[in-house]
Amino acid sequence: MAGRIEGGLGTQLNPFGPQWPTARAGEAPSIGEQIQQTLFGKPKPAILDPAAFPQVAEQLKLLHKYKKKLAVMAGDKEDDYDIQLADGGNAMIDQAGTIFVGAKLLALCKEKPEVLVGALAHEIGHRPKRWGSYRVRRQLTREEIEYICRHEETRADLFAGKALAEMGMSCEPLVQFLESVEDKPHPEYFPAKVRGEIIRDAHAGRAYQATARRTIFPGFDRMTSPKGHLGEY
Ligand SMILES: [Zn+2]
Repeated sequence: MAGRIEGGLGTQLNPFGPQWPTARAGEAPSIGEQIQQTLFGKPKPAILDPAAFPQVAEQLKLLHKYKKKLAVMAGDKEDDYDIQLADGGNAMIDQAGTIFVGAKLLALCKEKPEVLVGALAHEIGHRPKRWGSYRVRRQLTREEIEYICRHEETRADLFAGKALAEMGMSCEPLVQFLESVEDKPHPEYFPAKVRGEIIRDAHAGRAYQATARRTIFPGFDRMTSPKGHLGEY
């Protein structure tokens, strides 16, 4: 029997991230662990069986198709990341690289592949495993954690903008989507308007580079661009 996906997303803090709990001071020992915990250590949504949700099969297939291109573009390997269909309307990544994509998000953006690829790119742009190498032990203040999180979210948005440009996709649907689901300010994110400008800037810069590269080195581009990536390094 097909699973039912009810309703729209409504408004929420962040459609491409977990819902944040309040800070708990004095727990994690290394800087990397504190950041991993804050960014990627949130409760995970329930995993859904894709076979029960044929109505989003196409969208899941699209994400699997782009996973390798985006992983390689980020400097990682395809199997550094895994995609799971999950309950709810968010996308989030945990520190092991598993990306949980909400069935509601897939259903709502059925006709907007740019939003789905942009969301996947944002999550891969976090590259959560790399935080494991920040081993200096010091308790960060709440302000420091918020600052690093804003920086991290901005890095992920920059990557999403660049990735969409590389894939030949517009970033406008993603920017509009972020604005449409924002409800109130959050200390670990810039407002959707600012995020939109960051994504647009990154997209414009990378689109120019990609076009120039295609014009000047067409053969090289076909082999090496993230869009045309054929295999391992
Ligand atoms: Zn994020």
